[in-house]
Amino acid sequence: MAGYDLHTHTTFSDGTTSPAENVALACELGLRGLAVTDHDTTAGWEAARAAADGTDLEIVPGAEISAEHEGYSVHVLGYWFDPEHRELAGELERIRGERDRRAVETVERFGQLGIAISMDRVRELAGPAPIGRPHIAAAVVETGAADDVSEVFDRWLHDGGPAYVAKYAVDPVRCVELIRSARGVAVLAHPGLYGPPGAGGIPEEVVERVIEAGLAGIEADHPDHDEDQRTRYRDLAAANRLVVSGGSDYHGDRKDLRLGEVTTAADEVWRLRERLPR
Ligand code: AMP
Ligand code: ZN
Ligand code: FE
Ligand code: FE
Repeated sequence: MAGYDLHTHTTFSDGTTSPAENVALACELGLRGLAVTDHDTTAGWEAARAAADGTDLEIVPGAEISAEHEGYSVHVLGYWFDPEHRELAGELERIRGERDRRAVETVERFGQLGIAISMDRVRELAGPAPIGRPHIAAAVVETGAADDVSEVFDRWLHDGGPAYVAKYAVDPVRCVELIRSARGVAVLAHPGLYGPPGAGGIPEEVVERVIEAGLAGIEADHPDHDEDQRTRYRDLAAANRLVVSGGSDYHGDRKDLRLGEVTTAADEVWRLRERLPR
């Protein structure tokens, strides 16, 4: 198993393990490479690189950017981009700031629903991470109002749910353009998840527009894609000469997944790197 896990989260977003812990897990598995793709931040890069220093593990710096189209999430993975590119860094900063405002509103909604959680506790649970719904859900679980995070999502926090507050998000096409102008490559994350209600994924015409914007790859291999979806997105990638990527979307013990359970072959990573703007 000498591939690359191109999709992992750490405590710098809503994962429960530090970048160094992810590096240690990847080394134990003998992975060749590991991408750190926290939501809307590059804050974990330095710690990951430091931990991998002196090992054979290659760190692929990345981020999973929370784009949105017509109210549903479209996650875009960016790799190797310049973290100081002014426009992209500014956009990420704005997304993170708006997450905080949105968390305050979400906490108020829970209050109105009779579930008292405090913003202080939510901030504590998030630590250095931009606040995400999973942090808020964890605070709700602590009150005893629900047994686990997925119950909180099912009852209140799902898109459009009674405690759901929309957040500022960038359009996926602009997101791909921004990653490219910051000299990175963009990959469409798990296109079979999210999308309009009942659509079973991101609509084809939206995927096409994102491809036209200069997408380099499609994450066909994701733990939450079934076999049909994996085949469909592999074919779509082939038809558009895009790289087929894969990753575990590891979140520590926040999700029932193992780091390295899905990987990308080294030659696909090579093809991805060849797409870097010169
Ligand atoms: P946010 O970016 O704050 O809107 O939160 C999105 C995150 O919530 C995703 O990355 C998932 O990890 C998590 N999430 C979304 N839907 C669910 C769900 N139904 N059950 C559990 N976690 C979810
Ligand atoms: Zn996440
Ligand atoms: Fe995602
Ligand atoms: Fe993710």
